[in-house]
Amino acid sequence: RKNVGRITTGSKALDDLIGGGIETQSITEVFGEFGSGKSQLAHELAVTVQLPIEKGGLEAEAVFIDTENTFRPERIEQIAKHFKLDTKKVLKNIYVARAFNSSHQILMAEKVNDLIQEGKNIRLVIVDSLTSHFRAEYVGREALATRQQKLNQHLHTLQNLATTYNIAVFVTNQVQARPDAFFGSPTKAIGGHVLGHAATYRIWLKKGAAGKRIARLVDSPYLPEGECVFKITEEGIVD
Ligand code: ATP
Repeated sequence: RKNVGRITTGSKALDDLIGGGIETQSITEVFGEFGSGKSQLAHELAVTVQLPIEKGGLEAEAVFIDTENTFRPERIEQIAKHFKLDTKKVLKNIYVARAFNSSHQILMAEKVNDLIQEGKNIRLVIVDSLTSHFRAEYVGREALATRQQKLNQHLHTLQNLATTYNIAVFVTNQVQARPDAFFGSPTKAIGGHVLGHAATYRIWLKKGAAGKRIARLVDSPYLPEGECVFKITEEGIVD
């Protein structure tokens, strides 16, 4: 893959774990229980993608597809201040789309094409949460196949965006605390099928002691498994 770009997570340890930040042309899935920091990471990246390349960004804009009303402009401002950025400009460079149900969410992802055609310099697409609407709407055993099929379609759209426009896609997925919740991974469930050769990074977030977070890289196509520790502070994600 040529011209892969990287976006810093704010933590050197986490960047190192995933090979230097989250990658363009790939889907990065972060999964973990409630409060593990998935949305915090999403907010951080929506800011850091705007940084100059030498600071770990791509000097670009972000789309934030918000399915659970988790987007917080105040949080963006706090993180932007930490990087000494103009908070108003930073907020303007984040296109927030509220998705009311799963079909709306699928549509919002397709619409990213239009934003790019209009000339917007989008290099990051966040879906927070990828799975909540699908889980709520397709309930029970008999709905499972349809749910996975719809999710596949959505992930396919996202992967196309990633490869066509050299975009980083970042999706969150809430799962139970127990590790057997690996079964809850949408990207793993379809691995080798729809995504095919596409690179997918999966990061498992856990709560640690004293406000720390543990990130574990699992099933990476190119990188060794490993863990690191980072913190969530007022300023955002730090070592
Ligand atoms: P859910 O699945 O419930 O959405 P999540 O994994 O997305 O959970 P986040 O919302 O990303 O969780 O993380 C929430 C946690 O982030 C809080 O419990 C808190 O520990 C930390 N946090 C949020 N804002 C701040 C802040 N301003 N300063 C310090 N820590 C914060």
